[in-house]
Amino acid sequence: MVGLDIGGTNVVVGLVPAAGGRPASLRRRSTPSLGSQLEVVAELARLIQEVIEEGLEASGDSDGDVLGLGIGSPGPLDLERGIILDAFNLGWRDFALRDALQSEVGLPAILDNDANCATWGEYWQGAGRGARSLVGITLGTGIGGGLILDGRLVHGASGTAGEIGHMSIDFHGRRCKCGNYGCLEAYASGPNIAARAREGLEAGAESLLTTLVEGNLDRLTAATVYEAILEGDAYAGEVMLETAKILGAGLANIVNVLNPQTVVIVGGVTRAGHYLFNPLRAEVRRRAFKRAEQACRIVPGELPDTAGVIGAAGRFLAERGMG
Ligand SMILES: [Zn+2]
Repeated sequence: MVGLDIGGTNVVVGLVPAAGGRPASLRRRSTPSLGSQLEVVAELARLIQEVIEEGLEASGDSDGDVLGLGIGSPGPLDLERGIILDAFNLGWRDFALRDALQSEVGLPAILDNDANCATWGEYWQGAGRGARSLVGITLGTGIGGGLILDGRLVHGASGTAGEIGHMSIDFHGRRCKCGNYGCLEAYASGPNIAARAREGLEAGAESLLTTLVEGNLDRLTAATVYEAILEGDAYAGEVMLETAKILGAGLANIVNVLNPQTVVIVGGVTRAGHYLFNPLRAEVRRRAFKRAEQACRIVPGELPDTAGVIGAAGRFLAERGMG
């Protein structure tokens, strides 16, 4: 199958063996956000064809069958009709991408949410293998999530289930991009980790961070915070500890409500490794029901660049009742 993972910055396409495993070919391009929908479809279709040819050749099976195409996209989506309703980062609205690609490439296709696909990828081929109930959390520019309960991906009544980033964790908290206040994302997404670090610096905190960005706080990112931690900076350590506690509070809610066997966290922020995971697990232990917490592993993803592609391809199999 072909997996197509559409992100705000890049699209990644891979030819994934039906039995799972590493993509036989993989390509990454910047997302074609400009141009008409027809042009975007033509460009994606070209990329898909290239990946198919390259992958079949690499696997020594140049006449091989490709079963279909799985597409992971930012939402909100109309899953049944295969339409991207409003991917505001890309400027795409009411874009019937599934059917357009299906006819352009000549393969049956399915469309699902990008975080659902990444979660499914980790469940099928990554850190979640063997779990029946799993929650995926994508920590990046935003916070996304996917829910798999008893082996089934949960879409909910209108396809929006799993929006973990927008659970309220502070009744009167920070304003979120979604319009609500106190969402998990408003604290623990990459840009918001940087924003919280910056607020402390502006209030007078002493830190290596100021030097690392050469005094220009606009350049501060979550990656800078991590860099400062590795240099032993105490303030950056506090910011990460606070981030871990906030995520831990959010996760304790999920663990109590859904009782998953595994929580997989993917995305750039997981580079903070044990600086993030140790205090996060401790916070979940402190807050969640003991029986729920003890049954749950909280782990980083194992497919940092390919979970979305592998998961999108895997969703095609699952939706067709083949996986
Ligand atoms: Zn929100």
